[in-house]
Amino acid sequence: MRQKLAAGNWKMNGTGAELTELKALSQIHPAASVDILIFPPATLLSRASIAVQGTAISVGGQNCHAAKSGAHTGDISADMLVDAGATSVILGHSERRVDHGEHDEDVRAKARAAMDAGLKAIICVGESLEQREAANTLDIIGGQMSGSIPDQSTGENLIVAYEPIWAIGTGKVPTLEEIGEVHDFMRARLERRFGEGVGRSVRLLYGGSVKPDNAADIFSVSNVDGALVGGASLKASDFSGIIQALE
Ligand code: PGA
Repeated sequence: MRQKLAAGNWKMNGTGAELTELKALSQIHPAASVDILIFPPATLLSRASIAVQGTAISVGGQNCHAAKSGAHTGDISADMLVDAGATSVILGHSERRVDHGEHDEDVRAKARAAMDAGLKAIICVGESLEQREAANTLDIIGGQMSGSIPDQSTGENLIVAYEPIWAIGTGKVPTLEEIGEVHDFMRARLERRFGEGVGRSVRLLYGGSVKPDNAADIFSVSNVDGALVGGASLKASDFSGIIQALE
């Protein structure tokens, strides 16, 4: 059985004051039956990891560099994330693919570095609206998975998030049939590439406008093992509703 996972990506939101949301979340869910992961901005990671010590919450990074160290001004290595208390890292989010020109091979190199450092990599894939309307969704997802997921993936160190770009921050969500089609396809691809055992153990998240009021429906879809949540992860009260839908 795959352990359910609620992942909250704070993106470029939050200063020290927002650590109270982490405290509040840990008090609402003192012993969660699902994994709870929060991805604060890098500036908050160390403090957040201290704030969640002894709680059911873990923290992770929103990005890392593919190199171990060196002359890369402004970047953060996977080892640095581990040192700051991270257990995982989000890679290939569409905001990084679009805003920072990250391609599949960049994401793959970063994921390799993250796995080498002992982090779980949450690799994001997803189609644009034009690609969906042109009926290219599965081709795009398949290509991104082949290109972005490194060979050393195991069921333990890999999580794949399906995030249609047009659903992120828009309030638009694919139909449950559309989500199911993509998640079944992703599961089949993983089984084909890594074998049934590993392929079946990788957790698959859906992301894009997940809210407390649509979470239960989304989690009812087969091969959806949880959610990667942006906006609704910023407030403990909202994120808690999503966690409850998963429990
Ligand atoms: P959203 O973001 O929940 O605000 O739509 C999702 C994401 O980018 O992971």
